[in-house]
Parts: sequence; structure tokens; C-alpha cells
Amino acid sequence: MSLFNATSAAGIGQAEQLYQGTDFSSLNWFEQQWVAWYIWIGNPIIATGLMSFLLHEIVYFGRCIPWIIIDAIPYFRKWKLQPDKVPTAQEQWECTKQVLFSHFTIELPAIWLFHPLAEAVGMSTWQVPFPSWKAMAPQVFFFFFFEDLFHFLAHRALHTGILYKHIHKLHHKYSAPFGLAAEYAHPAEVFILGTGTLAGPILYCAFARDLHIVTVYIWIVLRLFQAIDAHSGYDFPWSLQHIVPFWSGADHHDFHHMAFTNNYSTSFRWWDWACGTDNKYREYKKKVDAAKASMRNATKEQKEAIERKLMDEVEKEGIMAEAQAEARGVFKAKTQ
Ligand SMILES: [Zn+2]
Ligand SMILES: [Zn+2]
Repeated sequence: MSLFNATSAAGIGQAEQLYQGTDFSSLNWFEQQWVAWYIWIGNPIIATGLMSFLLHEIVYFGRCIPWIIIDAIPYFRKWKLQPDKVPTAQEQWECTKQVLFSHFTIELPAIWLFHPLAEAVGMSTWQVPFPSWKAMAPQVFFFFFFEDLFHFLAHRALHTGILYKHIHKLHHKYSAPFGLAAEYAHPAEVFILGTGTLAGPILYCAFARDLHIVTVYIWIVLRLFQAIDAHSGYDFPWSLQHIVPFWSGADHHDFHHMAFTNNYSTSFRWWDWACGTDNKYREYKKKVDAAKASMRNATKEQKEAIERKLMDEVEKEGIMAEAQAEARGVFKAKTQ
């Protein structure tokens, strides 16, 4: 009961309403903090909305900080996928401003709208205790699967015609992405692709009628890590894709930014592989491996030079492909 001693009289009244009949001594530390938050704020709608927004901001920028530090230390350059393109402080700041603009204009209202939608499909928010890990794990996997497929289809659509020219082109400003660029996108893109992240939990809950928002938070945190790390521009020997071969990782998405085409999915490699939209990527990887194998006795500089040459070729093809995509957009717009 010490939890309640520290709260105001109004808070106790609210707590009694919300948490009537709850055995607080059986709650773990996280659940107790959860209860304390809802009591402190006093209004479940505001408490959920504020927690969702703060979680997103803290995790997004918190996860970007290590990548900003890594970009500033030349030692890490050997693991940078496009080592000649390290973002400047100015570029990172410009990117941060656009990201913050999207967060306040699109994500904040969307997060606020999420609460009534979540309640309408019967999602638990203030309730304790939390579901077990065994219940949460398959749900989180389903959200990963759903988002990856949604993103693959929507992202491919965003690469065509006027959708590319007016919406997705902004995200492709950086041919060598960095952590902060994960959510650097047109507000319409933030909305379209954000749907893939939130529609999974909403649809799941509408059918299963059994989902706690804490599971959605775990999913959001993992999704943010996935998106930021995929844009980090670094592929370490210990990166997840070297342990889980179907995980996309930075290597996969960096190529998308460098080559403009190929690799449209987010978390997994299987849809690009099944639809053949990773043909150029796999061809490029083969070329790099073959060149390195044939130059076993060459110096480090010579090996790096050949890799740079192959990279330049892919990037040049990418610039042409982007111009074609835009031209197609103009043609389509004229004939419609
Ligand atoms: Zn793209
Ligand atoms: Zn990207």
C-alpha cells in the first residue's frame, strides 16, 4: 500500500475506481510503475497518449545517439557500408528538424487517436497484471510479419509514378542513410508506413480480443530499433543478419538507398527474395565477393578501391533508375 501513500487524495480516488479489487502485492516492479503512472496522471486517455508519445521520442532519439557517436569516431569506418559518405553535423541537424516536424504534426495526433481506437477493439491499457511472455511473443512476431508484408507492398507502390515524385523522394535524399534518417520522410509517408506498424495490433485485437498495450509498446520499441539500425549505415560482424539469415539489417536497406531499386521490405528478406526484387542486390554481393576472392594477395587499399568501383557503378545505375521512375510519374500524370 506504500504506493498509494505517496499519491494525492484525488489520485487515490481515481486508483480505487480503476484498480478496484487488484492485489497490488502480487505485482512486479514494472506493473507497480505502470499503476503509479496511471494514478499520477489521473486520466487514462491522457496517461496512455502521453506515455506512447514519450516512449516513441525517448526510444527514437535514444537509439540514434550511439549511431551519432559512432559516425564521429573514424575507428568504426571499417564497418561502414558506404565509408566515403559519413553524415555531417549539419546534415544530421537538418534531418532531426524534419523528423521532429513529422513527430509533432503526424505522429502526435495519430498516437492520440490510437487510444480510442485501441479501446474500441478491446485493448487493455491501464490494466494490470501484464500478459505472460508466452502470450506476448507470438503476438509480437505476428506484428513483425504483418508490418514487413505491408511495408513491402506499400514501399513498392511508393516507388512508382507520382507517389515517388511527391512523397517518397524525400526519404531517398540520403543515398547513404544514417540512424536519424529512419523517419526522415514526407508526412504522408509517415502516415502510410506508420499504418503498417499500428494496423497489425488493431486488427489482431479486433479478432482475438486479447491484447495489452504493453505488448504493443514492446513491438514499437523493437520496430524502432529495427528501423534505426537498418538506416545506421553499419554492418558489424555481430549484426543480427549474420546470426539470423532472413533478417534484413543495415546491409539490406543500405543497398536500397544506394541502388534506389531492390530490397523494399523492412525486417525480413523473404518477400524480396520470393518476388525477385533483390536480384541486383544479390548480384552486387556476388561481384564484391568474387572480386575480393580474386584479389587475395592484393593490398587492403586495392581491395577497397575495387569495392568502391562496384559501389559507384550501382549508384550510377540507381540515379538513372530514379530519373526513370520520376519520368514515368510525369508521363502518367499527363496521360491521366
Ligand atoms: Zn524507397
Ligand atoms: Zn530507408
